[in-house]
Amino acid sequence: METGRRNIKTDLINTLCALDCKIYKDELLSRRSSFKIGGAADYFMEIPNEKALREFLKYAQKNNTRYFLAGCATNVLFSDEGYRGVVIRLTGDFERLEIKDCEISCGGSVSLAVALKVALDNNLSGLECVSGIPGTAGAAVFGNAGGKDLWISRAVKSVEVYRGVKKKLINKEKIDFGYRKSGLEGCIITKVNFSLKKEERNDILKEVLESIQKRSEAQPLSVPNAGCIFKNPPGISAGKLIDEAGLKGVCRGAAKISEKHANFIINTGGAKSADVKELIAFIRKTVEDKFGIRLETEIKIV
Ligand SMILES: Cc1cc2nc3c(=O)[nH]c(=O)nc-3n(C[C@H](O)[C@H](O)[C@H](O)COP(=O)(O)OP(=O)(O)OC[C@H]3O[C@@H](n4cnc5c(N)ncnc54)[C@H](O)[C@@H]3O)c2cc1C
Repeated sequence: METGRRNIKTDLINTLCALDCKIYKDELLSRRSSFKIGGAADYFMEIPNEKALREFLKYAQKNNTRYFLAGCATNVLFSDEGYRGVVIRLTGDFERLEIKDCEISCGGSVSLAVALKVALDNNLSGLECVSGIPGTAGAAVFGNAGGKDLWISRAVKSVEVYRGVKKKLINKEKIDFGYRKSGLEGCIITKVNFSLKKEERNDILKEVLESIQKRSEAQPLSVPNAGCIFKNPPGISAGKLIDEAGLKGVCRGAAKISEKHANFIINTGGAKSADVKELIAFIRKTVEDKFGIRLETEIKIV
């Protein structure tokens, strides 16, 4: 891997600043992720509108600029070495939400909690499966977030995406949704159109509150983490396998397998990505040796 700093041209910086982008040089990614882990990115850019996004993508394509799109980084493990290139985050216009009858259109960076609240306030059902899940609408659709059996894809009507500098509207039938996948690799989801159903507010609220309650009982929400580390293998819970392998509480440096939920690794204070990676490798090996099942990571290791 190339290790040198990647500089971007002053012209692009000036253009993007004139388009209201915020650009941070050598930004610590530990400040930008729920895991609180990660060294400095050469650049961290907040891109608030499509014009700026197009300018950035045009430049990136022409100059072969390496970039990573982050939502709220609640499902990401950034490296201790940081990121050689640009981490981008959609803000501004991409945080807008519109509602018309039973449809809610969310910019790619609308928080799931906001989308769910608006749905609830308008007696619209369909997003309950993401109750209590942190992060943005775009990332949730990208990773088809949800619970064990109900995923956000059930509520998606279409998405607007950039693939390179080209913008496209993709209807749900053309999206290859599956367990924690959408097949939208290489796309930047700038808008998600949800199609929801009218229902009794109290029924929706009951489901939302029950789900949030279950999470707070089962997950280590008061300490930095990045959600489930591994995907569930077909028909089995990864957490159960890790628990049955006797791994709860195992530590590497300041990273620890949660005592509350074995599929969570928590940062007990100052954990390094190397500690987390070591734990991941150890869990994999132990579970594979014991049960013959190879676990696949759910978090994105950058
Ligand atoms: C306490 C906790 C509980 C969680 N519980 C669940 C759960 O029950 N179910 C579940 O599915 N997840 C869960 N997660 C994981 C996480 O919240 C979801 O995966 C969420 O969708 C990630 O959103 P984000 O904005 O933080 O995305 P990020 O973590 O920033 O990014 C995740 C991936 O999405 C990509 N991405 C980000 N934005 C976009 C975009 N606009 N277009 C295309 N790609 C994009 C990124 O490049 C990256 O590959 C949990 C996380 C935590 C911390």
